[in-house]
Amino acid sequence: MEEHKYTEVAPGIWGMKIVFVNVYMIATGPEEWVLVDAGLKGSACRIKKMAEELFGEGNPPAAIILTHGHFDHVGALHELLKTWKVQVYAHLQETPFLTGQVSYSAPDPTVGGGLMSILSFLYPNKPINLGLHIHPLSKDGTLPDMPDWIYVHTPGHTAGHISLFRSRDKVLIAGDAFVTTQAESAISVLSNRKKLSGPPKYFTPNWVMAALSVRKLRDLRPAVAATGHGPTMEGEELANGLEDLVDHFKELAIPKQGRYVNEQFPSRSLSRTFLGSLIIITALVTFGLVKEMKKH
Ligand SMILES: [Zn+2]
Ligand SMILES: [Zn+2]
Repeated sequence: MEEHKYTEVAPGIWGMKIVFVNVYMIATGPEEWVLVDAGLKGSACRIKKMAEELFGEGNPPAAIILTHGHFDHVGALHELLKTWKVQVYAHLQETPFLTGQVSYSAPDPTVGGGLMSILSFLYPNKPINLGLHIHPLSKDGTLPDMPDWIYVHTPGHTAGHISLFRSRDKVLIAGDAFVTTQAESAISVLSNRKKLSGPPKYFTPNWVMAALSVRKLRDLRPAVAATGHGPTMEGEELANGLEDLVDHFKELAIPKQGRYVNEQFPSRSLSRTFLGSLIIITALVTFGLVKEMKKH
């Protein structure tokens, strides 16, 4: 028999780690509940078992909310939707990646940090197609079937990434906007080593937006944070970690090198500097030659 692997994050919120990624179940009424994210492919049985233990047999969630659609957050969805006839919600900007229209930016195995980065070339970035199951979230920040909660748009890791917030007790479900382990290191993720970090480096294409999103979440002053990867963090450890991440985002979160860094931080781009110099030199030489020719 499989051991219980889920933990209570805060009153009425439970999380389960599936190999290296977390799913969350949130009680929203006496018997009602909502699933946040859907783990890895092949984990539907574990998710259903956890739901049965927490909310009783034959009690599907009122809705499934996706923080984003990366393969490790939607893996069990198709399987779950075979038995749970429920609506799936995501941010409008995430829906093209959930209806088979657009692929995610390719993972970048060159960002460093460990085996999870090196192996990231294997991670699928093709979109899944949820067809009519997927619905865009309301623009006003409310969440269906979750009256105590709001969502915050936290792009950067993906275009339509969201984080969920319960203002009553300041509980944050951050998704991958920031995480509480070093997602690039296999040792860290498998042992669930706690360290507040930026979004997984190998799968984050827009670092400017990612930095703004972390700032937005810091401004909520969360008391508890449950993230897509890593253990729950709370209190001063969370507050100090977030403050540090905001203040030193460039050093702590942005990879030293990588395909999505050079485009947005040109000072680091040798090739761009080289190209710029080449154009200027060519222009000067041409200008000189034309002038020279005019003389004769
Ligand atoms: Zn992700
Ligand atoms: Zn993730």
